[in-house]
Amino acid sequence: AIPPRKLVLPELGLSSKQLAVLANVRDDLVFKSAKELDESTRNSATVLTPALIELVCEELNLNVEFSPQTLPLLQDNQLSKDPLHPRMPVVTVMGHVDHGKTSLLDALRKSDVADHEVGGITQNVAAFRVPIDGNNREEAHSKFATFIDTPGHAAFKSMRANGTIATDLVVLVVAADDGVMPQTVEAGNLARAANVPVIVAINKCDMPGADPERVRYQLLESLGINTEQLGGDVQCVDISAKNGTNLPQLLEAISLQAEMLDLKSDPSARGAGICLESRLDRAFGSVATVVVRSGILKPGQHVVFQSPKALRGDLFGRIRSLVDRNGTQLDVVEPGVAAGLIGLRDPIPPGAEFCVEVNEKAARAKSQEMLARNVEATVTIELANSLCAEREEKIADAVQVPPLLDSSGAADSDTAVSEDNAVGRLIAIIVKGDVKGSADAVAQCVQAMEIARYPIRILDAGVGDVTEMDVKIASAPGRAKGNSEKAMIIAFNVRVRENEKRLARRAGVAILSHKLIYHLEDELKQELEKIYNLDR
Ligand code: GDP
Repeated sequence: AIPPRKLVLPELGLSSKQLAVLANVRDDLVFKSAKELDESTRNSATVLTPALIELVCEELNLNVEFSPQTLPLLQDNQLSKDPLHPRMPVVTVMGHVDHGKTSLLDALRKSDVADHEVGGITQNVAAFRVPIDGNNREEAHSKFATFIDTPGHAAFKSMRANGTIATDLVVLVVAADDGVMPQTVEAGNLARAANVPVIVAINKCDMPGADPERVRYQLLESLGINTEQLGGDVQCVDISAKNGTNLPQLLEAISLQAEMLDLKSDPSARGAGICLESRLDRAFGSVATVVVRSGILKPGQHVVFQSPKALRGDLFGRIRSLVDRNGTQLDVVEPGVAAGLIGLRDPIPPGAEFCVEVNEKAARAKSQEMLARNVEATVTIELANSLCAEREEKIADAVQVPPLLDSSGAADSDTAVSEDNAVGRLIAIIVKGDVKGSADAVAQCVQAMEIARYPIRILDAGVGDVTEMDVKIASAPGRAKGNSEKAMIIAFNVRVRENEKRLARRAGVAILSHKLIYHLEDELKQELEKIYNLDR
């Protein structure tokens, strides 16, 4: 028997097309096998789960191994065994656009007793807390709820980490005059899929056309949400965010639901949680809004964040300070509580999980290992993509390549480019900028050019000098070797060292250093021309 070939794949999942090129087998074989094993595999671009890939590979006599995308943040023995302390519920407000999510959050924020709107940091912490036991004062024994101050699905999705959701309940806002709409259904389904209980807030009950009863029937019909008023067990409060009507009742419903959930935590466990979002503050640098899920956070601790998307940056650091929305320093942040975490150099991707590490060395090591794995996964996927493109090009031999530049280098020629002097079907680009804003702006400018003429794919837009990793990602093996894809790194206001220049030259990656965005387009066009000429 032929020994199975070994394949190391990223845990992120691949399409059957990608899997086929990496395994060097026919893609219809992979797709057929995937489809047989899982009917929901729609086409060759459907992403297969690692579990399905494993089964497919078994059938194809391939030995597959996955390099995990995430490191286990907490060992089993660090998970809290004896969660005894009650903890605050974390609440997300969802619903259809214009149904009043923002207005509701605004109205609730007013009852955030500690909300003084002082200090430049106020807008940087995307969560606030509200007393939910009718005690309208900041008292030690008061019960609070943490509200995520970003309405909608994005906030909810960014709280999804490792398949769990860092929100305990969803307030589903439905406008009484508009009724259940597509995003209402979507939100309801998201909550159900995540097993998060819903409280319905029927908003705009002050409007002349308001018909809360009709909304309740719609909810029952379209989502199976059976409200108490109709004999079900889902709490539903008729409110007006604009007039503040029945907000105490809504908070009471939240309090009741939280009690039923019996939320507990163990403050002695290792601190861990999720980043909801992070912003750059002029005075404080990166401010990450984090929700603690277990243990506690304290200033001085070392933390490491991990996100399967991150390719670079310092995703670890020492907590310089923890603040609430008002910029008030917190000595300790307990489970269920959100805070702004200050002390990290780089912005943290939303949804990144974090945990406390014993010291800087451990945090750095974990962060670097995680980034290296992400880069490896990206390189593998990029390799698959460029092999796919190559394969498709061969198949579509007769199909004309879109004209890029003609032999004289003029950009606006109508002549179709023949096979052997074509620049290529795709130019993969990495943008590095001095700040996130500039990198994004350059990426946008470059991406916009695609519409004009050049099929361009932005692989990544990040902050900082050009690194070996950038070159490695850009030159996903195979792309550089005269294949259909070309790679380029645009360095905007950042340094490119000799080492990276040399590596790039060797890998066939063009580096374009740049300072002014309004010359970028011209220079990029020239650069494309240069690649084109070199190719001939
Ligand atoms: P979002 O898109 O869900 O965040 O909705 P907004 O909070 O931005 O509200 C959309 C519009 O509805 C705004 O013009 C609000 O002033 C209005 N609105 C929100 N709540 C109420 C309410 O309780 N009564 C009335 N009459 N208007 C409301």
